Amino acid sequence: MNYSTNKNFAIEQDLNDTLKGYRDKFFIPKNKEGKEQIYFCGNSLGLQPKTVRAYVEQELKDWELMGIEGVTHARNPWLPYHEFLTKQAAHLVGAKESEVVNMNTLSVNLHLMMVSFYRPTAERNKIFIEGTAFPSDQYAVKSQLRFHGYDENSLIEIFPKQGDTYIKTEDILSIIENEGGKIALIMFAGVNYYTGQLFDLQKITEAGHKKGCLVGFDLAHAAGNIDVQLHDWNIDFAVWCNYKYVNGGPGAIAGAFVHERHHADKNIPRFEGWWGNDKQTRFLMRPDFVPIPTVESWQLSNPPILQLASLKASLDIFEEAGIKNLRAKSKTLTGYLEYLIRENGLLDKLEILTPSDPEQRGCQLSLRFLRNGREVFNKLIASDVICDWREPDVIRIAPTPLYNRFEEVWEFIEIVKSVI
Ligand SMILES: *Cc1c(COP(=O)(O)O)cnc(C)c1O
Repeated sequence: MNYSTNKNFAIEQDLNDTLKGYRDKFFIPKNKEGKEQIYFCGNSLGLQPKTVRAYVEQELKDWELMGIEGVTHARNPWLPYHEFLTKQAAHLVGAKESEVVNMNTLSVNLHLMMVSFYRPTAERNKIFIEGTAFPSDQYAVKSQLRFHGYDENSLIEIFPKQGDTYIKTEDILSIIENEGGKIALIMFAGVNYYTGQLFDLQKITEAGHKKGCLVGFDLAHAAGNIDVQLHDWNIDFAVWCNYKYVNGGPGAIAGAFVHERHHADKNIPRFEGWWGNDKQTRFLMRPDFVPIPTVESWQLSNPPILQLASLKASLDIFEEAGIKNLRAKSKTLTGYLEYLIRENGLLDKLEILTPSDPEQRGCQLSLRFLRNGREVFNKLIASDVICDWREPDVIRIAPTPLYNRFEEVWEFIEIVKSVI
């Protein structure tokens, strides 16, 4: 892409953007004067699709009018309601429909998946994780170790090397090569929340499988951001939240993926509940669990319909826009942000922690300010740039392809120049 620092370049990109109509499908937060803010926080909480209200109101209305009858007679019957989201969710993460389900919330799903896919033995009991993982994932992994009678000696962590800002793929692969025989589970993020680094999911999975490890990913910062191919890449399991890039709403119901080759495996331990039981016999209320022959057997409870309704509004938008199209725009948009930082001499004032290779990042750039980062951040917020602050000195900027524009990136850089 031949970028230019001229504002007209941004205006032209927006004009020619085949996805430009999608911004209008979202409520963009405004300042007190009614001017739209520059919202670069889709990595934290995605914006509200304008259709959400109608989707939720439909279910409120059916509940109002028919009470329990809505289970089977609502316009979108609640009994199979979660199935109405399956196709879109499968397309979003490159899975078969039998491999994805929306249930619970992220950290809960991570635990449920580790119940099934962390099966330590005396010889093979280690979990390999990025040392800079999101705290909840670290707590989940460490508490699983303790639950199975192990301690942090069974944890292998990898950190960026001295002088590096992110973890090199070759270093991950070399740990798998050297210690794989002792590793029960490789559990990485898809995209690291702090640095924005996109890990090579396919290579990590291949290397892990070669050594007999199971491999799972937390896609909290990857779902709706990266065009992952969970099925083709042979990943064993994945989990993600739907309130970040997926725009499902605060605390949205989360997603889970289990590769189909595990569905019929009776040796996999699993925590079970009635919603995982065969649909034909579920209401016969029999004492014996008959698993649904898909990822749905991992469901415990009947799901929150209002949450699913909210998420469905957003997934319908993703289905229409197409994650591959979004990813293509995203590479150009984030590349433009990086270009403007460089061309405006800002690398004297800040360091980009995120890899420069578009294949090793999503839309987020993590900017470490060399001086007065907190002050810069406060001024950005005062200038109606909504971004976020991570201690001790990092500002994360996530221009999302669904609702952010090139002109906003251009304006952001002008604001940074004026406040720095
Ligand atoms: C956002 C995020 C979480 C949050 O967990 P919840 O269970 O949704 O509260 C966990 N892990 C990662 C990697 C995240 O990015």
